[in-house]
Amino acid sequence: NLSERLRLVASFAETGTVLADIGSDHAYLPCWLIQNGRISRAIAGEVVRGPFESAKRNVAKEGLTDQITVRLANGLQAILPEDRVETVTIAGMGGSLIASILKSDSKRLSGVKRIIVQPNIHAMAIREWAVDYSWMIVDETILKEDNKIYEILVLERGEQSYTSEELLMGPILLQERTAVFQEKWQGELKEIERVIHVLTQSAQSEEAKSKRQQLNATKDMIERV
Ligand code: SAM
Repeated sequence: NLSERLRLVASFAETGTVLADIGSDHAYLPCWLIQNGRISRAIAGEVVRGPFESAKRNVAKEGLTDQITVRLANGLQAILPEDRVETVTIAGMGGSLIASILKSDSKRLSGVKRIIVQPNIHAMAIREWAVDYSWMIVDETILKEDNKIYEILVLERGEQSYTSEELLMGPILLQERTAVFQEKWQGELKEIERVIHVLTQSAQSEEAKSKRQQLNATKDMIERV
């Protein structure tokens, strides 16, 4: 049974699309999409041998070897031109790692129309990547599962610019301002205040000062919205 988090990621995959799930681990997401008749073909990419083996095992166990190709590859290198991939999913990693995966080998995205990402932290890195690489945010959602808060971003090609608030918190999430969104940013605010306090007490270096200034700016931003 798929987690609510991955089910929501799956919900943004358009029916019938060809999908590549990068960092697929057990390949739960592509298996679920095929078993539920949502898509007919997928690639599962993994860079680490253990998870790669478990993806292969799971795909075989579910009898899906004709529909899902599992590849041992770094990031987007799992995608080959002949796959005709239209949708890429990257879930369950930090936003900076996801952004760096999207940055390297970005030629591999040439036929891709939609990217669905679920960063565990630092979604801002992905929004910044999107602006720089001409993708725009067409949907966003936020959820809480097992006491953790997750964001999901859906990107399609296009030019768009965002305010610093939108880059940090998400243009669509900011509009919707759900209870989970407010809980997330209240938590972030507490954490920022804690770090500022520690920096104020202990560190007097220029570096600490500039870090503190940066945190104060972020704090103001969160408090303003
Ligand atoms: N996507 C699944 C999910 O959301 O439940 C698995 C998330 S798991 C925490 C992250 C996976 O990404 C790990 O299996 C890791 O090996 C893989 N990974 C990390 N960096 C990668 C990269 N550059 N290319 C492919 N896979 C990567």
